[in-house]
Order: sequence, then C-alpha cells, then structure tokens
Amino acid sequence: MNKLTTANGAPIADDDNSISAGERGSLTFDNYRLFEKLAHFNRERIPERVVHARGYGAHGTFTLTKDLSAFSMADFLQNAGRKTDVFVRFSTVAGGQDSGDFVRDVRGFAVRFYTQQGNFDMVGNNTPVFFIRDPAKFPDFIHSQKKDPATNLPNPANHWEFWASNPQSMHQVTILMSDRGIPFSLRHMNGYSSHTLSLWNKADERYWIKWHFKTDQGIRTLTNEEAAQKPADGMQRDLVEAIASGDFPSWTVKVQIMSEAQARDYAINPFDLTKVWPHQDFPLEEIGKLELNRNVENYFAETEQVAFSPSNLVPGIGASPDKMLQGRLFAYADAHRYRIGANHQQLPVNRPQCPVHHYQRDGAMAGIECPYGGHNQSSKVNFYPNDRASEGAPVPDPSVAEPPMPLEEQAWTKAYDSRDSDNYSQAGDLYRLMSEEQKLQLIGNIVGGLSQASDSIQQRMVAHFTQCDEDYGRRVQAALKTAGI
Ligand code: NDP
Repeated sequence: MNKLTTANGAPIADDDNSISAGERGSLTFDNYRLFEKLAHFNRERIPERVVHARGYGAHGTFTLTKDLSAFSMADFLQNAGRKTDVFVRFSTVAGGQDSGDFVRDVRGFAVRFYTQQGNFDMVGNNTPVFFIRDPAKFPDFIHSQKKDPATNLPNPANHWEFWASNPQSMHQVTILMSDRGIPFSLRHMNGYSSHTLSLWNKADERYWIKWHFKTDQGIRTLTNEEAAQKPADGMQRDLVEAIASGDFPSWTVKVQIMSEAQARDYAINPFDLTKVWPHQDFPLEEIGKLELNRNVENYFAETEQVAFSPSNLVPGIGASPDKMLQGRLFAYADAHRYRIGANHQQLPVNRPQCPVHHYQRDGAMAGIECPYGGHNQSSKVNFYPNDRASEGAPVPDPSVAEPPMPLEEQAWTKAYDSRDSDNYSQAGDLYRLMSEEQKLQLIGNIVGGLSQASDSIQQRMVAHFTQCDEDYGRRVQAALKTAGI
C-alpha cells in the first residue's frame, strides 16, 4: 500500500483533521500541511488560452505512405512506411474551457509530429481558410466573437458588425454558417493547415505546401436543432470512448504542392489565408495516414499544457509569406511563455523525442529531468562560441541551412488588406457546389444571427452575399424579410 505524503515526500499521519487548540478551538499556525494543501489548490489553474481554450487531446501515429525527399529534407518525410509519434489537440475557438462542445464554431486541428529533428507542429483548423488575412485584425476579430463586454453574453450583432466591415471574411463565414459549422464529432471532420507552409530539399529548392487531413470516418454534421439535444461534453466523451474501445479514428493525409515559379504566375495570391488553391489547379496528393490510438493519462499535464506553435518547425519545413502565419509564429510561443512559462518545452508532452542541446539556461521551473537534455543542460558549458566542441558542446549544423525566403516587394502597409480585392469568388464557388438542402441550412443559420444585427449591417451583409453569388444574396434578403415579420 502506498503511504500518503506531503509534496516533500514526508508521510502524513492524519489527513482528515487540522491541528486545533482543543476540540472546539481555532486552528494553530503550525498547520503547514493544511497550508500546503490550500495553497496548492489556489494555484491549480494556469491562464486558459484566450482562443482555443476548450481542447481535446490524444496520442497517435503518422505513417508516411509516399517518400517526399524530392521536396523536403525533413527526416519524417523520407522513406514510405516511416512512422512518427504524434499528439493531436482539437478545440473550439471562441468559447472558454467550460463552454459547450456542440457550438457553431471553427474547430482547431493541431498535429504535433515528434520527429528525430525536433517537433514539427501543424497548427491548423477544420476549415481550409480563415476570416482574416492580416494578424493586425486578430484581437479585434476575436473580441467581436467572444462574449459582450457589458453583459458577458454571446452577442451575434457584434459578430456580424465585424464581418460587415471585413468582406475578406465572406469565404470563412460561408463555411461556418454551412452544415460543416457544427461537426457530428471530432472524428467526423477534416483538418487543414489552412496556411501555406513551405518545404525545402537538399538541393535548396523551396516548394509551397498546404496540408489536408481527410477524415476516414466520413464527414458528418449536425443542424442547430440536433446540436441543441447533445450533452455539453459529448465530443470529449465520443473521442475518449472511441479510442478506449480500440475504434481508432484516422485521417488520410494529403498535400497540395506548388513551385516558386508557379506561385509567381498564379492568379490567386497563394499566401492569402482567406483563399484555397482550387483542386483542379493543384490536385491533392496522398502522402500518409494519421491515426489516434492512445488517450491521454492526465488531461491537464498533456492536453492543457501541450504548447503548439507554428514556430515549431524542423529542417526541410519552413514558413511562408502568409501574414497570418507570420503573426502566429510570434503569438503562439508568446502565449505559452505567459501561460506555462519560459521552460514550457521541457514538459514531457512538449519535449522532443530527440537530443536537445542549447545554451538557454535557468528560468522558472528549469531542470525537469529529460532523457534527451539532462536537467537544465546539466553541467554543460553555458555560452557560445566556446572551445569545447570536442567535449560535446553543441555547434550549429550548416547542412540544415534554409534557402532564402523569396520576398519580392518593398515593405509598406495597406499592400494587402484591400477592400477591392476578390473577397467573393471562392465563397460563391462554395455556395454553388452546395446541394439545395445545404443552401437551406446555410441561409437559415445566417439569418438566425444576422436578424439580431441592425438594419444597416443586414443590408451591408446582403450586399456582400450578393457579390459572392446573386442567388445567395437574394435568398438571405428574402429570409431576413420573413424573419422580420
Ligand atoms: P472541388 O469541387 O474540387 O472541392 C470542393 C471541396 O469542398 C471538397 O474538398 C469538399 O470537401 C469541400 N466542401 C464541400 N462542402 C463544404 C462545406 N460546406 N464547407 C467546406 N468545404 C466543403 O472545388 P475547388 O477546389 O475548386 O474549391 C471550390 C470551393 O470548395 C472553394 O471555394 C472552397 O470554398 C471549398 N473547398 C476547397 C478546398 C480546396 O482546398 N480546394 C478545401 C475545402 C473546401 P470534402 O472532400 O471533404 O467533401
């Protein structure tokens, strides 16, 4: 039988009674065991994520089915058949940790590959695009989607007020309001890098890439009415129970790849996060399988403290000029330094499965024992350059140098966030491929929220929908009229 101890390991004789001055007396000041218990309880929470707070995690395996050495030197993309451990975290975006699962929202779809050259995080969503194309808009966008500052209640009028002034959101709004806006479960949705990332090979050639994770369970969705019948934690339960029973969910991993020359001549800006690369121009190529096969043992230690960041890149995989990606390269790692601390990468769920040698030292909680890095890099030299390479002091490896990022214009603001640019064609393409049943759901979902906004916002939104597709605008207008009667 294990003995109950304090956190410093000392056995405890009695955990039911505090020390008091007699049976009916006050507690005394030598109740240090009680103080430890209460003080630690006060500190059980770390700041929840401002976005993607409500999360669901699981471990799994990525199996490469197509060698990608022609495009990338990343070790986990060499040799078909190679397996790499992964950790996946799904999430809702706008709600806090204690919100519900079955809300109409984008779902986070973040995949960490524990490669032999470091962790690669593909921090994506279940939608191929996003609401905005410039990170300068991100805090405003999120404020508009979260609870109203005065009432602390959801306020659809705020959502639509933001979108009415940002037509670049039309494509993602159309996806969010479509049947795909509420997945049946986390297993029944696709994942996308959404961003354009890059690959580079040993010949220093760079290619642009988008990742797609296609659910093998099939797409299944819920209407608002069906979702309202679901328990608040139903998605968490579905995922945990499926994995526990051996019904492992999987996704077929596909990529779109574009050369630098193709990107220069392409009519669509390949780095605009509000746009997809149409499949007929850049067909999906199957490269692997993602399977989730192990539940977390401790939700807080793993799912809550996992620190995904698009800046976790590895040799052979690079960023791109996508402005939203560039903003996230800073913001995600910064969020984890604030939430967890400067040494968050030492935690078991975050540390790489390969040797870690560097000259960063100390800081809060430094020194967690790690099989790959010792504790706080042990007694190793803590400055560079030094004369101790022969003793094992780490040195840079020029063979993993990234080729130059092609940036072709002078820097200035307003070069991109143009209200005149094409914010509508792809939302219209999506509308036109929907069945009549999907269109009916889309219009109903839009009008449910938009009818709560002012007349002027309703009219601006109808104008935007009309630019996507005339029939789309006409039907929203007609449904608003009916809702107003
Ligand atoms: P395709 O006809 O080749 O592909 C259409 C895609 O749309 C499929 O991947 C399908 O996903 C997906 N889709 C179907 N219904 C919805 C929905 N309600 N919400 C989101 N995605 C949906 O067309 P294009 O490549 O020419 O793209 C046309 C439009 O399709 C785009 O403007 C975009 O809105 C949407 N789309 C395109 C993607 C791309 O990467 N090209 C990816 C996802 C959507 P599935 O295979 O899972 O059924």
